[in-house]
Amino acid sequence: MKIAILSRNEKLYSTRRLVEAAENRGHEVRVLDVLRCYMNITSRRPTIHYKAEVLNGFDAVIPRIGASVTFYGTAVLRQFEMMGVMPLNESVAISRSRDKLRSLQLLAREGVGLPVTGFAHKPDDVEDLMKMVGGAPAVIKLLEGTQGIGVVLAETQKAAESVIEAFMGLKANILVQEFIKEAGGADIRCLVVGGKVVAAMKRQGKEGEFRSNLHRGGSANLTRLTPEERATATRAAKIMGLNVAGVDILRSNHGPVVMEVNSSPGLEGIESATQKDIAGMIVEFIEKSMAASHSSRSRTRTRGSKG
Ligand code: ADP
Ligand code: MG
Repeated sequence: MKIAILSRNEKLYSTRRLVEAAENRGHEVRVLDVLRCYMNITSRRPTIHYKAEVLNGFDAVIPRIGASVTFYGTAVLRQFEMMGVMPLNESVAISRSRDKLRSLQLLAREGVGLPVTGFAHKPDDVEDLMKMVGGAPAVIKLLEGTQGIGVVLAETQKAAESVIEAFMGLKANILVQEFIKEAGGADIRCLVVGGKVVAAMKRQGKEGEFRSNLHRGGSANLTRLTPEERATATRAAKIMGLNVAGVDILRSNHGPVVMEVNSSPGLEGIESATQKDIAGMIVEFIEKSMAASHSSRSRTRTRGSKG
């Protein structure tokens, strides 16, 4: 197969590992900087150009699109889809997962466990909004945040109101969430590939930190998932329409709750914590899907929830 990897930097661990895994399995791989791709979107025979070259002959495309380039990145991925190239994760599913609110709404509709979450626009709703999520302590999140930046724990009602008002004053979109204290500053990253949890790790925030992000100094360890946690992770990925997803779960005293579903999960933390060849599993999944799509002749169709 000829596989394209959309990544801004071929030196990144995840990109390197995917290249290595694909080459080991006998495929031809090309890393393309998504921002360098350009295209005529109105042509009836869609093409993608790259540094004055017309790209063709690709069978599959692995999107590794960073949060800051979602808009352009998903447009390029869509163009690959128009050309009949099989995406590992579809553009619609990636766009869906990049919007925290939309994701939570879709998961809620299907009855997936979630932390009680509220959303508001006007500051005069703040007191009632806080009541809605069970009062302080509460977690306040910027909708566009990643890597733990823009996630604040407000310990008291007064602190929560000030933070919410400050963010609203800046016209930032925020959500307010029940604080899952019993998670103890840890969360579970479940890696789903092709409808199965293939690896999981527990991430623990450093001393005194409620955010478990590895970028914030958290550490990763092995963990055993309960059947309920496993089922929650696979359902979340399926609802989002993602073949490959990093589903983040908090262990709450009302069962596993999904915090977010990541469409370009990093491989470094999870491969080193579990010693598993996740990149290899991803390439194997592409091989299987290609074989199946050759027989059904439908490579791209929109999966997951409407909306
Ligand atoms: P980001 O997208 O920036 O990673 P998250 O929503 O994943 O934002 O939050 C970052 C971290 O903060 C999580 O990994 C988790 O450890 C902690 N956290 C987030 N929401 C809650 C919550 N409602 N209760 C307890 N801890 C939380
Ligand atoms: Mg996170």
